[in-house]
Order: sequence, then structure tokens, then C-alpha cells
Amino acid sequence: MGGTFDPIHYGHLVTAESAAEQFELSPVIFVPSGRPPHKREHLVTDPIERLRLTELATLSNPRFSTSSLEVERTGYSYAIDTVQWFHHHYGPTVDLYFITGADAIVEIMSWHKVERLIQYCQFIAVYRPGYAREQLHNTISQWSEEFSRRIHLIEVPALAISSTDIRNRLKKGRSIKYLVPEPVEHYIKEHLLYR
Ligand code: ATP
Ligand code: MG
Repeated sequence: MGGTFDPIHYGHLVTAESAAEQFELSPVIFVPSGRPPHKREHLVTDPIERLRLTELATLSNPRFSTSSLEVERTGYSYAIDTVQWFHHHYGPTVDLYFITGADAIVEIMSWHKVERLIQYCQFIAVYRPGYAREQLHNTISQWSEEFSRRIHLIEVPALAISSTDIRNRLKKGRSIKYLVPEPVEHYIKEHLLYR
């Protein structure tokens, strides 16, 4: 599961758990991006801090782990480089699934080397109840068979949590309790992040 995780929250965790359960995936590896190309205009928190928060959030789930692959890589983070790395690491007999939000899947056609990417991994695109499912299906069905059959849509419980909202709350000194795991909440407080 890739993301900026700035910071990681229960939306990400529930998503990963649902995907893992439905597709019998183990392990689920969280890969915080180093320098996300699509967020280059924004100020993103130090990758090391985002990595630590992700580690703290995933620690209690034996099926979850965190990879520093993208954080350690220099330059922009592209999914194709990461997926290729995992492909070589685990070998060709292991099926790779890229878990992502439905919002990202709509943009996938603009991703770097997407034709190669789809050969190395399948996609699990997660949407929330109320999301325009029809629209999503229509978008995907317009793509070639080669693409669309490797993209799986799943619904997860309604979680309107976003990192943007959490950062805004912290800036205003508001509570983020029950939006992120407690160790994440404590780390953010102790290290005065997002002030
Ligand atoms: P930001 O608000 O900064 O964009 P975010 O909350 O969307 O952050 P990202 O790190 O951008 O978090 O998201 C990583 C992946 O998790 C994306 O594919 C995104 O669609 C998905 N995602 C984010 N929040 C949720 C949520 N509440 N429920 C399901 N999926 C989510
Ligand atoms: Mg986002």
C-alpha cells in the first residue's frame, strides 16, 4: 500500500485490512513515498518522520509491515520502481497487489510507465459507500481489457478521515484522538509535528 501517509490514519489502516482480508494478502507492506511527484508543490513532512509514524501505526498488526524503500531512494518516488523492486525481491511466483484509493485509480493512466506497472501488479482500488461507483466502473470499462481485468474495486466502511483534515486539526490545536492510532497521536505530540 503506497501513500504519502502525512500522517497515516485509520482510513489507511482499515483500507489495508479490508483488502488483505478479501484477497487473502499477507504481508501488507506500507510504503511511504519519499518525494511524491504529484505533491511536489506542497510542503510534505520529512520522510523519516512519516516512516516512523507508519511503523508505529502498523506495529500491532502481524500482517502489516513498513518499507523504507521509497524514503531511502533519491529523486521522485514512482510506483513502477517500487513494484519492480518487490517483483525481483519476492520472485515471479508471488502475486503483487497495489492497494490504493479509488481517487488515485482514476488518475492511474497518467502514472509513470503505467503499461509496465500493470504487468507487474494488480490493483485493488478502495471506495467508500456513497462514492460514485457507477462512474468508477464506467471509467475503468473504457480502458483496455488488459488493464481493466487487473483492477479490482472493493468497498470499505465509511471513513471520511484524511491526512489533510488531521494536519488542519493539529494546526488549530484540535484533537486527533480516534482518527489515528494512539502511538501515532503520541509521537506527533512529543515531536511537535504539524504545528
Ligand atoms: P491527503 O489528505 O494529504 O491527500 P490522504 O488522507 O488522502 O492524504 P494519502 O497518503 O494521500 O492520504 O493516501 C494514500 C492512499 O490511501 C490513497 O490511495 C488514498 O486514496 C487512500 N486513502 C486515504 N484516506 C482514505 C480513507 N479515509 N479511506 C480509504 N482510503 C483512503
Ligand atoms: Mg490523498
